[in-house]
Formats: sequence, structure tokens, C-alpha cells
Amino acid sequence: MMRVSELFYSIQGEGKLMGVPSVFVRASGCNLRCVWCDTPYASWEPEGEAVGVEAIVEEALKFGAHHVVITGGEPMIMPDIGPLCDLLKARDFHVTIETAGTVHAAVRLDLASISPKLSNSTPTEREGGRFARAHEEKRLNVPVIQRLIDESPDFQLKFVVCEPADMGEIHGLLGQLRGWSAEDVLLMPEGIDRQTLEARSGWLGEICKTEGFRFCPRLHVLLYGNRRGT
Ligand code: SF4
Repeated sequence: MMRVSELFYSIQGEGKLMGVPSVFVRASGCNLRCVWCDTPYASWEPEGEAVGVEAIVEEALKFGAHHVVITGGEPMIMPDIGPLCDLLKARDFHVTIETAGTVHAAVRLDLASISPKLSNSTPTEREGGRFARAHEEKRLNVPVIQRLIDESPDFQLKFVVCEPADMGEIHGLLGQLRGWSAEDVLLMPEGIDRQTLEARSGWLGEICKTEGFRFCPRLHVLLYGNRRGT
């Protein structure tokens, strides 16, 4: 069983597979509490029913797509993430898992989309800061990120960037990791509306040109706005 807040068919808006029509399975529940989380219904206030992995795969098959993205929340903390991936692979799906890279699970996947959380994610002021300490303690786990890089057929390191000063933290983390190249690193502006994304895209694009990293727009926000099921 897996608690699922939504399952839908859309266009992958982020990462190496941006633009690919994909089925999204959103696991509900997260071990982090990012202040800018764009899916609070799967983290701060998790919603959804527990669904059997066979039923999830049957639902995914209805769309006729080749790509499935297991996202969250945090899929890697779900007890049945391994069986779900096995079943999806048995039906010949291409499987992406979107994870913050804080928890390891032995899973069959095609693309590990790892999004390490920077200090800009820490909720120091939200809800009196009651989640800030736990979030800060858990948000980075370098050995887990390294293991995901080492074990995955393909991976990407996707960073949510709020301001140019975030680059110091990104370089600090990348300096602790092995086996990546610049094309595996994606920089994505933080924001859930077109105006914010546009305001942050100019300088972030220039940083990508300097560093050789990939610029990662949030295509689904530009296509659909910040709406559930997209
Ligand atoms: S890790 Fe992802 S789902 Fe969890 S709180 Fe952060 S942004 Fe939200």
C-alpha cells in the first residue's frame, strides 16, 4: 500500500525529461517541511488514501504513456516503493523517482531525480518555526545522495534557487559528491507563478551559462499555472 494524494497524466515540467508526457504518482507524506513546498497536500498537510501498488499500476496503464514519475511528498519513505517500482518495470514503464535524497531505498528505476534541499528551504518563521530544527537536521544526507548517484542508471541533481548567493551552498555540496558532470546539475528558480519565475530566470540563466549547468524552467507552471493535477 502507498498513500497517494493524486495520480494524473501531464507533461513533465522539470529536469532532463522536461516535455515528456508522463503519469505522475504523488506519494503523500514527507520527512521534510520546505517553507516553499508547492505540494503542501503531500507534506505539511498530507492528504489521500492508501492504495495498493497493483491498483496504482492499473491506473497508470490507462493513460497509455511510457513514462511514470513517482513524486511526493517523499517517495523513498513509502514502505512499498520497492514493489511499486518492480511492478511498473514489469509493465515496461520508464520510472523516474523524484526525491530529496535524504532516505535510501533499494528500488528499480531509470532516472533518480535528486533535489537536495538548501538552507533556503528551512521554515524558520512558518508555524512558529516548530519544524525548522528537524528540517535543518534532515535536509542534507550526502552519503544517501552519493549512493543514489552510484546506483542509478541515470540521475540528475536539481536545485531550487532563490538568489545568486545560493550558489555557494550548491558548490559546497557538489564538492562533496563524486561521479557527476555539469550536465547532471540543473538549477531551477523557486516560484509558483509566472512572474516570480521570470524575475528569477534572467540572473539564473546567466549563472548557468557561466557554470555550464542546465537551466530548469518549471514548464508545468508556465503551461498550467500552479494547479493540482498538472
Ligand atoms: S521535500 Fe519536497 S514534498 Fe517534502 S516538503 Fe520539501 S518540497 Fe515539499
